[in-house]
Amino acid sequence: MTNSIIASVDGVITYLAKLVDNPNINYKELVVLSTWVQTAFEVYILRRQLPCYERPLPPPALKQHVTKETFSKAQIYSKDKTRFALIKLVFDQLLGWGLIKLGAYSGLWNFSGKLLSNVGISPNRVITHSLTWMTILTLTSSLPGLPWSYYQTFVLEQKHGFNKSTVKLWITDTLKSYALGAVIGLPVLAGFLKIIGWAGKSFVPWLMVFLLGIQLSLQIVYPTFIQPLFNKLEPLPQGELRTKVEELAGQLGFPLKHLYVIDGSKRSSHSNAYFYGLPWSKHIVIYDTLIKDSSVDEVVAVLGHELGHWHMAHPTKLLLVTQLHLLLTLTIFSIFINNKSLYSSFGFDPSLAVTAPQPICIGFMLFQLVLEPTDAFVKFLLNAETRRMEYQADEFAAQLDKKEDLASALIKLHITNLSSPHNDWLYSMYHHSHPTLPERLNALENYKGEKTLKLNGKPEPERQTKKDL
Ligand SMILES: [Zn+2]
Repeated sequence: MTNSIIASVDGVITYLAKLVDNPNINYKELVVLSTWVQTAFEVYILRRQLPCYERPLPPPALKQHVTKETFSKAQIYSKDKTRFALIKLVFDQLLGWGLIKLGAYSGLWNFSGKLLSNVGISPNRVITHSLTWMTILTLTSSLPGLPWSYYQTFVLEQKHGFNKSTVKLWITDTLKSYALGAVIGLPVLAGFLKIIGWAGKSFVPWLMVFLLGIQLSLQIVYPTFIQPLFNKLEPLPQGELRTKVEELAGQLGFPLKHLYVIDGSKRSSHSNAYFYGLPWSKHIVIYDTLIKDSSVDEVVAVLGHELGHWHMAHPTKLLLVTQLHLLLTLTIFSIFINNKSLYSSFGFDPSLAVTAPQPICIGFMLFQLVLEPTDAFVKFLLNAETRRMEYQADEFAAQLDKKEDLASALIKLHITNLSSPHNDWLYSMYHHSHPTLPERLNALENYKGEKTLKLNGKPEPERQTKKDL
């Protein structure tokens, strides 16, 4: 039974692979066209949002909570951010288009081969060649983005009083991010390529296990080794807040191991809270900025919302969704893995697609380019799902009798972060992983369920990824 299913899936993949390996399909032009269409769509969405910043009054749900001054500050800040996003979007598209048009993918492949020959390494060592190529390609496509990042931090955020970073900190952060990308990314890529090379046609399940293993290990590695490179986490001092958070965690059966304050104020005045960890040992992290700006009960209400995510296994559900997406992506990749037309339309020797040792890395990168426009649909779906989860977590906090405190905490966060008061519905659907503040306040207002949550025994603990408010 299982064998016949595998055989028929194989049959379908082989059939589709033949169908899409057609010299008449110009993949390069297809990618160029689809990325322009996607960019045009995103420009359209951003332009729909711009008139929201011209509205003279806040939405009714916020009217009593924001002063005229805060409202107009938020409008100007949001407008500046959206304009920046618009120009950056066009720049990124031109850069990506330029790289494709100039034949950067194949050009840099040949260049990295020559570079290796010059230091006495055979370019036929396909994994070394691939890693060198990916390093050069990543630098070529990401270095032009650095001035934008600089501008965003030191001009845009600075202008609105959010930036707390220094040039020195920004430079060391950037260098650390690149170094981390190399230390983690290159071995993972090498493993990825080795597994495909070793498993051949049946690489999908093996890769799934490998990548899931990496994601779960990062749960341990990230807080212990990576986050301390950028931020300082200190235990939350004894006091009313600590007692109340521990009490709440105890009531819900949340396996709280550590309770930290993070020095988010080192870089920015934006504030937040999140939790992470393994199923049996979790850590809560609260931004120092959140503690500074909110009352004890408001911070506890925010954590009530966070623990709602945990209680309803939201992070696990999201992990499952991402695994399904990965499964789908890798299965489609197996259709394209030996596609000669894909290689040749980007200026590569088509024999690279079929002769061993095959540089699978090229195929995977080109396949990513072909698949990129589908990301927009995934983004719509994923955001719809996370917004649903936010409503559920808010409701959970309301069930803990924290409705008023959560509402006032959300309003304060909204004001501190100068979030946009008005939002276009399509812009919101595409860009927001969270409902807007008026939407959340209305939902809280309309919540008529039982005020107190009945805690029948301990809920099932689960694995989770980082999830913020
Ligand atoms: Zn949330």
